[in-house]
Amino acid sequence: MKIICIGRNYVEHAKELNNPLPERPVFFMKPDTSIVVRNRPFFYPGFSKDIHYETELVLKIKKNGRHIQEKFANTYYDEIGLGVDFTARDLQQKHKEKGLPWEIAKAFDNSAPISKFIPLNDLHKKEDISFHLELNGKTVQQGYSRDMIFSFDQVISYVSQFITLKMGDLIFTGTPEGVGPVNINDQLTGYIEDKKMFDFRVK
Ligand code: ZN
Repeated sequence: MKIICIGRNYVEHAKELNNPLPERPVFFMKPDTSIVVRNRPFFYPGFSKDIHYETELVLKIKKNGRHIQEKFANTYYDEIGLGVDFTARDLQQKHKEKGLPWEIAKAFDNSAPISKFIPLNDLHKKEDISFHLELNGKTVQQGYSRDMIFSFDQVISYVSQFITLKMGDLIFTGTPEGVGPVNINDQLTGYIEDKKMFDFRVK
């Protein structure tokens, strides 16, 4: 399986990092070795001094598809989860300046903690999903899926023009504003609507 991550999909987040707004979805990938499940701790890596959290809605692809038309994209997922796209911002900044790939800053081991998945139909408002991250009990990110520049269906349609999506693949759909650094001993708790999705510690 693979993990596809959408970058710069919320206007206010693109602005906080001084990035231009994309005309088409920007995506990158993480390997399966980035996944952390069941609220296991995130171990702060020794190669960075500026690891940031980015809280994102995550789609689970339920059947294989390529060249998916936007109008059919909603038949490719029916479950959603919440994940953290951990980013070594110091390494990413250096690589961005040089125009180099981001994998060193995005795809490292344990960089993608994910929650369990729940049916979209269990949500109160699946057309505008609210989610938030609490850092040590204080809300630091609050997102609404209506604020995405590219919708779930647009993202799936676009990515599948280049890469075949397979059952079990995950799509991180971008982070809202409020990203920031984590420190050892921080507790990260993520919610979709009022459902607690993950709760883990940085070690
Ligand atoms: Zn991200």
